[in-house]
Amino acid sequence: MVRETKFYDILGVSPDASEAQLKSAYKKGALKHHPDKNQHNPEAAEKFKDLSTAYEVLSDPQKRQVYDQYGEQGLEQGGAGGGGMAAEDLFAQFFGGGGGGFGGMFGGGMRDQGPKKARPIQHVHKVSLEDIYRGKVSKLALQRSVICPACDGRGGKEGAVKKCTGCDGHGTKTMMRQMGPMIQRFQTVCGDCQGEGEIIRDKDRCKVCKGKKTTVERKVLHVHVDKGVQSGTKIDFNGEGDQAPGVQPGDVQFEIAQKPHPRFQRKGDDLFYHAEIDLLTALAGGVINIEHLDERWLSVEIVPGEVISPGEIKVIRGQGMPSYRHHDFGNLYIQFDVKFPDRLGGPEGEPMSPEAIAALESVLPPRKQGHIPPPDAMIEDFQLDNVDTKREMARAAGEAMDEEDDEMHAGGERMQCASQ
Ligand SMILES: [Zn+2]
Ligand SMILES: [Zn+2]
Repeated sequence: MVRETKFYDILGVSPDASEAQLKSAYKKGALKHHPDKNQHNPEAAEKFKDLSTAYEVLSDPQKRQVYDQYGEQGLEQGGAGGGGMAAEDLFAQFFGGGGGGFGGMFGGGMRDQGPKKARPIQHVHKVSLEDIYRGKVSKLALQRSVICPACDGRGGKEGAVKKCTGCDGHGTKTMMRQMGPMIQRFQTVCGDCQGEGEIIRDKDRCKVCKGKKTTVERKVLHVHVDKGVQSGTKIDFNGEGDQAPGVQPGDVQFEIAQKPHPRFQRKGDDLFYHAEIDLLTALAGGVINIEHLDERWLSVEIVPGEVISPGEIKVIRGQGMPSYRHHDFGNLYIQFDVKFPDRLGGPEGEPMSPEAIAALESVLPPRKQGHIPPPDAMIEDFQLDNVDTKREMARAAGEAMDEEDDEMHAGGERMQCASQ
């Protein structure tokens, strides 16, 4: 005698219904009340949820037993009552998300869960800019689990692997405990099979995988680093990853990551290069040589008199990176740092000779007069001193400390006082 019949009523079956009758009742009801077919009918959505809850409980022999004996309240103690599984999940599981007709029938409203797949193996493959410039094939070895070839993933001799009767293959058992007037229901790992859901006698256990069903294999994959491939590009090997019994093999994914380069920076298909040239080359021309990424050296002429300013950027077209899947190249941009001489003139601090000055004056544009003081201005003469970094820093630190000492005076005020 069952305690209550609510779940049976929802499904429209009698309390002594067989598993097959429950199944067919759920199938009929769930199809009829699925939210995708009843978009403007909240009652149907409610009914769909109720059907799922009822079926989830009654289709599980253990839960059904608890329900028959203690009613819905008995289940709630174990958290299985109010929909332990989302209604949509149960629906998908029931009808198998494996591309069957039902998803399509409901206008694709069902979540595409697909068959279960082993977790993917992901790896960042670091590549030099040279290799990306030329393209290459990297042979990468990985360790993956494969279905044990000796036992075909059974874990033991054919027929020797038995479903655990203690837990009916679930690996867990539902226990009940009387707590005063309440029945507490909880799950525990099955002790008969240690949670495996299966029992293999030691002598029947596969010698190769020791009953684990999988073994570890070293697999070499050939990763094509295409010419000009961008950093961050992902390369997939579908189904080449881990294998496990009862699931689809996982994927392997490599992400191309470009290593920083000592000479070039890359932006898209373009390369950037810093060239330091001396002042004479910047003014009077010369040649710079750039070692490229494919063992070529680019010899670049700076035309005399063209004058390269510090920081100026020039371009050599078509000497950047090969463009991925196009048949052209990006550009090579060169930024110039002009190294000025420390001093000009004779040895040991002697000033420039009048001849040298005259020579410069003959080729450079004339001096520009800066601000010219008015005729009645008071003029004082000064000479430049070199900046002594250490001394300046010590002074700055000292001043900072002074300011902390007398916060009452704003810096501006002090300046005015000092200059009076
Ligand atoms: Zn068990
Ligand atoms: Zn084996």
